[in-house]
Amino acid sequence: MATPNECEDPAVTNFRRYLRIKTVHPNPDYDGAMEFLKEMAEDVGLPYQIIELSANHPVFIMTLEGEDPSLPSIMLNSHTDVVPVFADKWCVDPFSAEKKENGDIYARGSQDMKCVGIQYIEAIRRLMAKEKMLRTIHLTFMPDEEIGGVLGMKAFVEHEEFKKMNIGFALDEGLANPTEYFTVFYGERSPWWLKIYCTGNPGHGSRFIENTAAEKYAKIINKFLAYREEQEKRLNADKNMTLGDVTTVNLTMVEGGVQPNVVPSDLSVCFDIRITPTANLVEFEEMIKQWCQEVGEGVTYEFLQKYTDQTLTSTDLSDPWWKAFSSTFDKLQLKTKLEIFPAATDSRYLRELGYPALGFSPMNFTPILLHDHNEFLNEKIFLEGIKIYCELIPNIANVK
Ligand code: ZN
Repeated sequence: MATPNECEDPAVTNFRRYLRIKTVHPNPDYDGAMEFLKEMAEDVGLPYQIIELSANHPVFIMTLEGEDPSLPSIMLNSHTDVVPVFADKWCVDPFSAEKKENGDIYARGSQDMKCVGIQYIEAIRRLMAKEKMLRTIHLTFMPDEEIGGVLGMKAFVEHEEFKKMNIGFALDEGLANPTEYFTVFYGERSPWWLKIYCTGNPGHGSRFIENTAAEKYAKIINKFLAYREEQEKRLNADKNMTLGDVTTVNLTMVEGGVQPNVVPSDLSVCFDIRITPTANLVEFEEMIKQWCQEVGEGVTYEFLQKYTDQTLTSTDLSDPWWKAFSSTFDKLQLKTKLEIFPAATDSRYLRELGYPALGFSPMNFTPILLHDHNEFLNEKIFLEGIKIYCELIPNIANVK
């Protein structure tokens, strides 16, 4: 480690301590995270509570009361869990939070999204020394975001405590941007996980069996892959488009067959489809139905996941939240880019219920390395992010 701890900003030290807690799936150390967050809340001087959604799925909430606690509050959301690592592919131990001489801090979760959790805390610490803000602010730390949030945010929004919080607006995670821009996400694509079943005549592997499952299988796969190619071409043809503006289709699982000399009667294939919010979901399903019909009798589909909410958070200047958000960046002379999030975050459970939510992680000049080997964040970028939140949070919390 190049820089001794004595001359390190305490916010960076807290960030690195948080990164060393192994909240990694499949057995995240949530107890360790709760202990750490308790210590943080006590240190900052914020009341806190832990909501056990179910055994070992805790939500940690720190609250800064506003001047008028009757007004809808602000939710600053982050998740405590991280995705697994392939440690042998990393240049350092992914849970050591090692800092290089140039300030790059390597660790799983450094971008996704322990940085943001600590930045909220450190910004609130600084803001508390100044005047009181109008609205109450809740810092929420969710479990299980990385495994779909079913026992995390999805369960939490049904909880009594969530309802009591009376949320008006939420901030949640975004992505790094390698340029000077900060990316801001106002919506997400709808994940559809689809399983297609093809059935046909079985028989001996030496004959020309008619109406086999395999012929239909090849045709249906080709239809999906042709659509995939068309969407990829659309994306590549337009420089202004990003991944969130098109629909991706990927073949993810195949199943079938009993032995090499038997023609199988059943074959199945899974597709992971992420549908852009501008697509009409009813028409999209009609298209899939039609493909199955065209291929022939005995081709059916089943949804393993079908997300149908397409709510977008307003980015119109007449919207007071967006006005407060965007004017902060104007004032700081920082550039932002609006995008649809290409994957899924906990924000979708909020937007679905009508709560406006923006995805923003203050990481410009940073390669996108979430879920990748050698995930890192530079400490200067991290500290700049705290400064941004010090402007952004009061602007949002003081919306009249
Ligand atoms: Zn994340």
